[in-house]
Amino acid sequence: MTTMQPTPKATTQGSIEHYDAVIIGAGVGGLYALHHLRTMGLSVRVYDGAAGVGGTWWWNRYPGARVDGPGSPFYCYTFSEDLMQEWDWAETQPDQPSVLAYLEYVADRLDLRRDIQLETWIRDACYDEAAQRWTVETSAGVRISAQFLVCAVGTLSAPNSPDIPGIQTFAGECYHTGRWPQTPVSFAGKRVGVIGTGSSGVQAVPEIAREAAHLTVFQRTPQYSIPARNRPLDPEVTRQVRENWAAIRAQLNANSVGMPFEMSQRLACEDTPEQRLALYEDLWQKGGFHLLFSSYADLLTNKEANRTLAEFVRGKIREVVRDPKTAEKLMPDYYLGTKRQLLDNGYYETFNRNNVTLVDLREDPIQEITPTGVRTTTGNHSLDMLVLATGFDAITGTLLRLNPKGRDGVSLQEKWRARFDTYLGMMIADFPNLFMIHGPGSPSVLYNMPLGAERESGWIGDCVRYLRERGLGAIEPTPDAEKSWDREVTDLANTTLYPLTDSWYTGANIPGKPRQFCVHLGGPLYFQRLSEVAAKGYEGFVFEQERRTEVVAAF
Ligand code: NAP
Repeated sequence: MTTMQPTPKATTQGSIEHYDAVIIGAGVGGLYALHHLRTMGLSVRVYDGAAGVGGTWWWNRYPGARVDGPGSPFYCYTFSEDLMQEWDWAETQPDQPSVLAYLEYVADRLDLRRDIQLETWIRDACYDEAAQRWTVETSAGVRISAQFLVCAVGTLSAPNSPDIPGIQTFAGECYHTGRWPQTPVSFAGKRVGVIGTGSSGVQAVPEIAREAAHLTVFQRTPQYSIPARNRPLDPEVTRQVRENWAAIRAQLNANSVGMPFEMSQRLACEDTPEQRLALYEDLWQKGGFHLLFSSYADLLTNKEANRTLAEFVRGKIREVVRDPKTAEKLMPDYYLGTKRQLLDNGYYETFNRNNVTLVDLREDPIQEITPTGVRTTTGNHSLDMLVLATGFDAITGTLLRLNPKGRDGVSLQEKWRARFDTYLGMMIADFPNLFMIHGPGSPSVLYNMPLGAERESGWIGDCVRYLRERGLGAIEPTPDAEKSWDREVTDLANTTLYPLTDSWYTGANIPGKPRQFCVHLGGPLYFQRLSEVAAKGYEGFVFEQERRTEVVAAF
């Protein structure tokens, strides 16, 4: 465990506090960035609008919320063996309270809280070219200056509230899954409607159905869901992971999605249909992402291979859901895995309950929301509560809502009007000294996010050290570097089926948002690129000497 250190000194000039770095966001990314930069000796202040640390795990308290990725003990920080040895996970897919408790434990264990200011939204951020510093302003009107601005604002943190006519008139309780209340919500005896059947919706639906008098699920696009098969974590697994931590960490770092999966090298066409079926059945029973990652290597690149798995899952839906008409409504028809793959605990089974109704919005669209419910083309659905599981303006939405102003006052909304240009997913031309964690063009949501945050923060720390050691005051990428990065991200995406599907990965869920697949699919290759760029003296970046405006090319 890193030894405790005194908080490096911040200074106050006039009414403005000065730090080396301001971090926006006290979630998985921001907490680690604080620890890392502070350990380097920087004065750092973190701001977060929530009343607690945890980011997405603080906000998303809806019933059923739990890790649906690699699960325990791999959805966690990897940098500290002490944290790994000390923290016990109870289930393979820890629930939201457990993940939040873990992040709170990390914040306490690393003594992070003294440098975190909660219930404080950053409303404005402007780059001061003469000072080579960022000035940020809080919701309370307090101004803070920092040389570096680290945006750890989350990729799924700007809720998408659907613009459905009459939504403001609904007189019952109405909650977005991504802004779930801190106080308990009771469904008992209530008629509840859930709009949205993505990851949040499929996690919430079985839980709500168990308690509500009646649940109506409003589904626009049916999705493929795989059983998560959450279960108590076998203590033997924990013991083995702890004993072999160095090797496991190396395995996570080498894996293309930062997870402990054995990635199949085999192509779907190399097996007979019977062999494929047997393999799919085996992995379906195992649960989780194994079905997608450990079956065949070409599921996300070859349409025919994809079709074999899609057909298998459609068969499972028909098997599970007793009413054939309901089963048909649940039948997805896009390339499996090209929307964020869903994992569930009893989602399809829920439609066998007699207190659950599925409304297929493709054949019976919502006309309006009224004070008493939802009116679709064919009739009224009376409701006491509406749950909006309608997702987020993903990856770019939160930073765009903050809308930082860079060089010459250019705003990020102007800069990203047509394309989300970045270099390495980490920095943006005309926005010197602004770093992103999980920014567009990084592996972000298609990589183990705590691990990705650690590795990106490590790069930011190295970059800051490089500047400091050379008396450099500012760094930013060149527009050419952004263009070639865009090509690299796009070329990688175009080797896959991802861009063929409307999803939040492509920006299709937000009306008017530019269509761009801005996740770097390289996994370890991405982190190798980060290292190469640094090793070449930050190739693709330009620098300014400290307190001088003269620009020095890095290559
Ligand atoms: P989402 O995947 O974007 O799903 C939103 C759902 O709302 C979709 O079914 C969408 O339908 C529907 N929708 C949106 N606007 C609508 C409208 N106006 N009318 C009717 N339906 C509408 O959002 P999410 O479920 O919150 O998940 C977002 C991401 O968060 C996930 O993909 C995942 O990466 C992450 N997440 C992770 C976990 C976890 O790890 N435990 C849990 C939850 C979420 P269309 O498909 O037709 O647009």
